[in-house]
Amino acid sequence: MSVFPASAENIYKLATVISIGKPVAFPTETVYGLGVDARNDEAVAKIFEIKCRPQFNPLIVHVRDLAQAETLGIFSPIAKSLALMHWPGALTLVVPRRSNNASHNEVSLLASAGLPSLALRVPAHPVAQELLTAAQCPLAAPSANKSGQLSPTQASHVAKDFPNLPILDGGACAKGLESTIIGCLQEEPVLLRRGSLDPSELEKTLGFKLNFLPEDDSQTAQLAPGRLVRHYAPQAGLRLNAVTVEQDEGLLAFGKDVPPCENLCLNLSSSGNLIEAAANLFTHLHELDTKTPRIAVMPIPNEGLGAAINDRLERAAASK
Ligand code: AMP
Ligand code: MG
Repeated sequence: MSVFPASAENIYKLATVISIGKPVAFPTETVYGLGVDARNDEAVAKIFEIKCRPQFNPLIVHVRDLAQAETLGIFSPIAKSLALMHWPGALTLVVPRRSNNASHNEVSLLASAGLPSLALRVPAHPVAQELLTAAQCPLAAPSANKSGQLSPTQASHVAKDFPNLPILDGGACAKGLESTIIGCLQEEPVLLRRGSLDPSELEKTLGFKLNFLPEDDSQTAQLAPGRLVRHYAPQAGLRLNAVTVEQDEGLLAFGKDVPPCENLCLNLSSSGNLIEAAANLFTHLHELDTKTPRIAVMPIPNEGLGAAINDRLERAAASK
């Protein structure tokens, strides 16, 4: 039996599961989330694996309050006024990521799919709040369903997709629909996804109408000036399925049979572990991107998380 009533004792127990890098499911007022410590690359990689997501979409990072959110992201005055008026609640704000290089408090780059921004939300559900307090870390949490299935609004829905996962039962979700997402990366905020918070409520706070820039409409995204960047694309050219390395190339390696390389060589996983490879993907790409003009990428098996890794590498190669 993996469903636990949301008692203080069980919330504490599941917070300790999170602290050892494992996922737990928990209720929010929108839908049930599948949460891990957002700072732990491997734990975030496991989320993609167990959800069977074929792509690395950026995840929403759940925090206790605005003060914690401000340690992770940079809030413009407009973003701050939205947070002050509508948090805790069904509002997700996409803001520039704050870089805390010196500390270990940084959110995993995999959680934001390599982007220099973060999607942050303070959930209103008391069980989510208590779990965030007990876990003492931000929680990266997509909806607790397998990719392509309906979003779960009851603990029993989660148990159907994930019978072996610990699930906190907080009853039926009051809203039952995902959060509304607002992008706050430019001067003017934009509506990225409609959700359970009515945009007219946000417009009352802002005093003006929001532009709708759908998150999955690549045409609008390309046409709109100063558009939000939704996919991380390295500056360096990528050469996929490389078995040798050229003189001006750095190497993104995988496995133990690595060809000779005179420049920077970073291995996604020398033991050939795809979870470890996913966990390292964006950190290694960013580092190679700043240090080499071209990146050779060794072949990566197209199974399990390898499919999502290859999807992202192919897009990065095509963006040049
Ligand atoms: P969900 O599937 O409910 O977890 O919501 C995640 C959604 O938030 C994704 O579809 C993303 O498009 C959006 N999102 C998360 N992080 C970012 C980001 N850094 N920039 C733009 N959109 C984001
Ligand atoms: Mg979902």
